[in-house]
Amino acid sequence: MTPFDLTGRWAIVTGANTGIGQAIAVGLAEAGADVVGVGRSAMTETEAHIIAAGRRFIAIKADLSRSDSAREVIAETLAAGATPDILVNNAGIIRRADALDFTEEDWDAVLDTNLKSVFFLCQAFAKAAIAAERKAKIINIASLLSFQGGIRVPSYTAAKSGLSGLTKLMANEWAARGINVNAIAPGYVETNNTTALRADAERNADILKRIPAGRWARPEDMAGAAVFLASPASDYVHGVILPVDGGWLAR
Ligand code: NAP
Repeated sequence: MTPFDLTGRWAIVTGANTGIGQAIAVGLAEAGADVVGVGRSAMTETEAHIIAAGRRFIAIKADLSRSDSAREVIAETLAAGATPDILVNNAGIIRRADALDFTEEDWDAVLDTNLKSVFFLCQAFAKAAIAAERKAKIINIASLLSFQGGIRVPSYTAAKSGLSGLTKLMANEWAARGINVNAIAPGYVETNNTTALRADAERNADILKRIPAGRWARPEDMAGAAVFLASPASDYVHGVILPVDGGWLAR
């Protein structure tokens, strides 16, 4: 057995139908975890990959723009027979507009999904793990904009910078309760989230020439870091925001 083995653990992954969430769900399953996929869209493709890896899959429908819906995820997870071992807060949205034109609706939508619901889902998960006396791992999906300002994404930068602070706060409060709280900060990844950026030839070229690895990330590039942060290999790692960015922040 390696320290990266997840056999016998359940991993709750939000936004598991596509992109980074799907790649992380499959990566955790390949390391031995059973998976609870949470989201608002069908997760048939993800389910097929996880079954093929020989693991169990439960789908839970939830609109994570609503914090009450986020809280209910944990009760539904427990009712379905899964245990609160690993939580990956991956679901997120982005809205793009100049700061001068940015609307309150675009502010609230992003903060509600990317920060508020994440906190209340973490809170419900931590309560369940503590009540069950289980060691647990929380992995939040942060961003390069947890470190940098970015442009034309004010609510996204606010949410991801907030998530960085919140990850550290929860790590401080829950480390002694047996819960590791950490985050992954993906670089520029080829997903729906970045379709607009990749379609803009000038922005695409600007981004690409700054990435030391010389390419955009693929969603699967995030899986190894997730397995590490979900596994016993990271038992003494708390409050870290781990960049997986092809070297972008080192530049
Ligand atoms: P994506 O392909 O757009 O995936 C986003 C996921 O979040 C989808 O599963 C989506 O479900 C789900 N979601 C959004 N709103 C939801 C809601 N109200 N309720 C339930 N699920 C909801 O983008 P991605 O790039 O994989 O993004 C995943 C995470 O990585 C996000 O937190 C994003 O901010 C972060 N990230 C991405 C990049 C990048 O370069 N791509 C970089 C840094 C961080 P639907 O398919 O149903 O919409």
